Amino acid sequence: MTEEPISEADQKTLRRVLARPCGFCGATVDEWCQTAAGTLLDHLDAQHLTRRLGRAKSTPLISGTTQ
Ligand SMILES: [Zn+2]
Repeated sequence: MTEEPISEADQKTLRRVLARPCGFCGATVDEWCQTAAGTLLDHLDAQHLTRRLGRAKSTPLISGTTQ
């Protein structure tokens, strides 16, 4: 069994996510997020939402809707 290769798009996203510290758990640049218990979340999908979203708010997916 070999590890499933990470897609190019995911690598780009991962680099961008890890390029900023996490305001939720306090992970620093290039470090994975951690749970409150100190377990390393070593997967892109496991990083805290606040960190993954970051400044992406400047490009809303949905426009023209209220609330
Ligand atoms: Zn985090």
